[in-house]
Amino acid sequence: MKIAIPKERRAGEARVAASPDTVKKYVQMGFEVVVETGAGDGASIADSVYQEAGASIAADAATVLGADVVLKVQRPTDEEIAQLKEGGVLISSLSALTNKDMVQKLAERKVTAFAMELVPRITRAQSMDILSSQANLAGYKAVLDAVHEFKRAVPMMMTAAGTVAPARFLVLGAGVAGLQAIATAKRLGGVVHAFDVRPAVKEQVESLGGKFVEVDPEATKDAETKGGYAKEMSEDYKKKQAAKIAEVLTKTDIAICTALIPGKPAPVLITEDMVKGMRPGSVIVDLAVEAGGNCPLSEFDRVVVKHGVTLVGHGNVPARLAVDASNLFAKNLLNFISPLVDKESKTLTFNWEDEILKGSCVTRDGQIVHPALAG
Ligand code: NAD
Repeated sequence: MKIAIPKERRAGEARVAASPDTVKKYVQMGFEVVVETGAGDGASIADSVYQEAGASIAADAATVLGADVVLKVQRPTDEEIAQLKEGGVLISSLSALTNKDMVQKLAERKVTAFAMELVPRITRAQSMDILSSQANLAGYKAVLDAVHEFKRAVPMMMTAAGTVAPARFLVLGAGVAGLQAIATAKRLGGVVHAFDVRPAVKEQVESLGGKFVEVDPEATKDAETKGGYAKEMSEDYKKKQAAKIAEVLTKTDIAICTALIPGKPAPVLITEDMVKGMRPGSVIVDLAVEAGGNCPLSEFDRVVVKHGVTLVGHGNVPARLAVDASNLFAKNLLNFISPLVDKESKTLTFNWEDEILKGSCVTRDGQIVHPALAG
């Protein structure tokens, strides 16, 4: 059975879906591994390194995309779908819920496609969780991007020439990205406040040395879904939340926005008036920009200055750390594939009753099969 890794073609994508380590593992499992030439360039992995790990290098995309199993980082383009093998397997992040046309094309191509972003977040699947591995890096990078734009130092410095005050951070949304942002800002010596609608997060924020901004503990008792995600809040709560955030922002130098609600536009947490109330030279990094942004003034893939505040809206932040992001993403895919390998036949076998496969498979046998997409 042939596993193949094409070069990513979407703009701004520097990651790759296999690392030399995971290639070695696939080869040990008895697979033939083919990597498209240059696939690892963005992650500083040369063709020769993949070859040393046991892969062969293909000169063109067509050879790679026609393999039995294709591993990708980004959802395929129409051109790529047309080259996938009928009856083949595609394992990738697909943004399937917001790209139904693409899912339909995968079904028509009779591809068995797995959307890694839909792998259920259960304990058994933690090591396959691309959302966590990539969000963690994005949270870290968001703080560095903010500090890069900030024209002051972060830690307190007491020098003979005077004292430099520590920078004050506000992290909005304390999920995977937000918690890493808090930890990173603390490591740099910042004073960190954080806010989330899920009350369970308070303890996690405090354990990292952050101060939790409390709005209305009574109203947030019911703010979390069974899956651990945030719900959309009531209008009354939103008003109280806005007043509290506005107050904290007047004393904030750097705001890191990470708040998301699955399947919905990102909640607006920093309004234009709040930006106006911030000190000149402050920085907002909006990691939620691809979902509409937590601040309506941030612009996708741009760094802009409005009302004296720098707004950073980089898209695909994990790709800005392509080496680590690729290694972790590749490991997530390996952990997804390993339990599927039949050691005798050296092929993939699927138990369609398994909740991980049921939760992530979007197309099979020419049909859209995911409950959130079918019908
Ligand atoms: P996410 O990316 O969907 O959202 C980021 C954060 O924004 C969340 O903490 C959310 O509560 C917060 N948020 C949403 N609306 C908000 C608002 N109006 N104001 C302030 N904050 C708001 O979340 P995530 O980082 O993917 O994590 C979601 C949950 O999944 C967490 O409970 C996390 O612990 C859990 N999780 C579980 C596993 C696992 O068990 N395998 C793995 C990773 C994460």
